[in-house]
Amino acid sequence: MSTVTDLRGTIQDLDSEILNLMSRRQELVQDAKENHGLKMNFPFQQAIRYMDQQEVEMVATLIQERIQTRAKAAAKKVMYYSREYQQEDTIITINGERIGDGNPHFIMGPCAVESYDQTSIVAEKMAQKGVRLLRGGAFKPRTSPYDFQGLGVKGLQILSRVAREQGMAVITEILSVDQLDEALPFVDVVQIGSRNMHHFPLLKALGRTNKPILLKRGLSATIEEFKLAAEYILAEGNKNVILCERGIRTYETATRNTLDISAVPILKQETHLPVIVDVTHSAGRKDILTAMAKAAIAVGADGVMAEVHPNPAKALSDSKQQMDLYEFDCFMDEIRKIVR
Ligand code: PEP
Ligand code: MN
Repeated sequence: MSTVTDLRGTIQDLDSEILNLMSRRQELVQDAKENHGLKMNFPFQQAIRYMDQQEVEMVATLIQERIQTRAKAAAKKVMYYSREYQQEDTIITINGERIGDGNPHFIMGPCAVESYDQTSIVAEKMAQKGVRLLRGGAFKPRTSPYDFQGLGVKGLQILSRVAREQGMAVITEILSVDQLDEALPFVDVVQIGSRNMHHFPLLKALGRTNKPILLKRGLSATIEEFKLAAEYILAEGNKNVILCERGIRTYETATRNTLDISAVPILKQETHLPVIVDVTHSAGRKDILTAMAKAAIAVGADGVMAEVHPNPAKALSDSKQQMDLYEFDCFMDEIRKIVR
C-alpha cells in the first residue's frame, strides 16, 4: 500500500509533468497564432474557464516560469573555454615544455628588452637554472607616454637572437593588430597584456592565428570577464590559450596589485585551459616573490612568470620589482625544493 509520502511524491511528479505539458502547449499555441494565423480556441481552453480566478492565475504564473527556464536553457551557449565543452586539460607544447600537464613551468626574463647584453645575461642565467621560456617586452604598454616604450622590432630581433642562442622560446607582448605582421615571425607565444584584455579586435585577430597566446587578466577584470576574453580568441579557432593571473586592483597599497590566488583553482575548475601566475606584476616588489610562487604552485598553477634584470636599479621599466641574478638564483633554488 502507498504511504502518504509516496502519494505526495507521485502527485508532485504529476504536477511537474502537467506543467511541462501545459507550457509546451502554450508555446505551440503562441507559435500557431503568431506565425500561422491560427485563431480558434481548443477544448482545453474552454475547460480552464471552469477554474476559479486564483487557480488560473497560479497555473499561468507557473507555466510562464517553465517557459522562461526552458528558453534560458535553450539559449545557453556552451563556451569553448568550459569543462562542459572539453573535459580534459588543454596542454600547449612550447619548446618541449607541455604547459598544462600538471607540472609547473617557468617563464622568466626582463620586463623590457633594453639591449643584447642585458637580455643575454639574463637568458644565460636562466639556462643554467633549466628555464627555457624567455619573456621580454619590445612593445611596452607604459602608463605614462613619456616613459620608455620599448625597442620595438629591434627588441624582437634581440629577443629572438638570444632565444636561438640559448635554445629558448620567445614570449612577448603585442599591443595592436597593426603590429602583428612584423612581430609574429619573431614570436613563439604572444602575450596580451593586462591593459589589452578587453581589446576585442586584437583578441579576434590573434584568434585567427595558430600562435599560443598568453592572455593576462585585466587590471580590474572579474573572472567571468577574463574567461569571456579568452572565449574571443577560442571562438575564432585558436585553441592555444594560456590564462595568466597577474593581480587585480584593490584598496591594498602594500602590493602593487592583489594576487587573486583563488582565481587559479576557480579557473582550473571552470576552464580546461592552462593557468599561470605572474608573481612580479602581482606583487610590484621582490621580497615576497618566492612565497607567492610557492602559493601559486600549491593551488595548482601550471606555471609561474617573473621578471629578472642584471641590474634592476638601472632598469628602464619596473625597476623596483625585478629580481637581480642572485635573487633569481635563490628564487629558483627555493622553488626547486618543492617541484622538480
Ligand atoms: C608585462 O608582463 O610585461 C606586463 C606589462 O604585464 P601586465 O600586462 O600584467 O601589466
Ligand atoms: Mn614589467
